[in-house]
Amino acid sequence: MKYCSRCLLPSTKPDLNFDEDGVCSACKAFENRAEVDWTTRAKEFHSVMSRYAGTNAANWDCIIPVSGGKDSTYQVIKILELGYKPLCVTATTCDLSAIGRRNIENIKNLGVDYVEFSPNPIVRKKLNNIGLKTVGDISWPEHVGIFTIPVRAAVQYQVPLIIWGENSQNEYGGPAAAQDSPVLNRRWLEEFGGLLGLRVADLPDSFGISSRDLLPYTYPTDDELARVGVSGIFLGHYFPWDGITNYLISQAHGFESLGHPIEGSMVDYENVDNYQAGIHDYFKYLKFGFGRATDLASTHIRRGRLTRNEGLAIVKSRDGMYPSSYLKKPLSEILSHIGMEISEFNEICDQFTNREIFETNSKGVLVKDSSGRPLKRTSKNG
Ligand SMILES: [Zn+2]
Repeated sequence: MKYCSRCLLPSTKPDLNFDEDGVCSACKAFENRAEVDWTTRAKEFHSVMSRYAGTNAANWDCIIPVSGGKDSTYQVIKILELGYKPLCVTATTCDLSAIGRRNIENIKNLGVDYVEFSPNPIVRKKLNNIGLKTVGDISWPEHVGIFTIPVRAAVQYQVPLIIWGENSQNEYGGPAAAQDSPVLNRRWLEEFGGLLGLRVADLPDSFGISSRDLLPYTYPTDDELARVGVSGIFLGHYFPWDGITNYLISQAHGFESLGHPIEGSMVDYENVDNYQAGIHDYFKYLKFGFGRATDLASTHIRRGRLTRNEGLAIVKSRDGMYPSSYLKKPLSEILSHIGMEISEFNEICDQFTNREIFETNSKGVLVKDSSGRPLKRTSKNG
């Protein structure tokens, strides 16, 4: 396991590459942004919009997928400022918190038309279970639904243009071709959209769920997409994108943060909507040896707001905390929502813990600290 010489991202991060100086592809992508002519990009944005917006006065100019988080709140503010009329679409989160609900209501009150789609909760709980046990992602249905549901809405409402937020492959690192792409399509979804090898099409046969139960998680057909001419772009390709800036702007427009750092993270203003997010981030830590604090600290190091050493100290204390609670809700309650006991959860954790990264004793049993967090094998970053 090696780490980027500039930020704190490790070589175990999927799709992250390093150059000969040991600098990761996320840092290189950020460096390349300095050369972007944002005035030209803004013009490009309006030229894309001119092909879609206002061509049909009886319809919305675009769809904005919104979770209620700081980034989607910012997207809505920006698109309204630019003078367009969006239809906002929420694919509801798996286990919505009260603050998450308030932030959704806040988006509506920015002055937009809004649709909320909630997949069948009984099927979803089964999918949470299957996702956790088979690919170590409790929020697998959410990670699929946030991409499929807005696209289904685009077909349904015949609004061809979808405006996504950031290209996560650009902000957090990924293959060069994906980083440069301003477009999110089916291929992007299948490659980077969080399916983790558990494809929706494989579920009915393996798990006895009907394919009609999976409609919300199914991407529209090529024919349907072609009929409406659905296309997706990333707002972060056309305008500078920074989580903290998005947060400040959103907060000034009514977005609520938690008021104290979230368990396992280093900030209080993101991932406040879903109680399962702590388990999701913890599994990332078990599989790849880094968590949300590493991602966040790295974006701040890149922007010169933290030194690498300052970031490292934060990461050591915050990353990979055993998710005994999230947003102050106890783990047992979070798990009971999907019909699981803590003992079973702990077994699944051990099953997904990467033995090349984490220490085992002479009997091959994982070595853990008093909180239940496994200890890393010694490496230069600890
Ligand atoms: Zn880096």
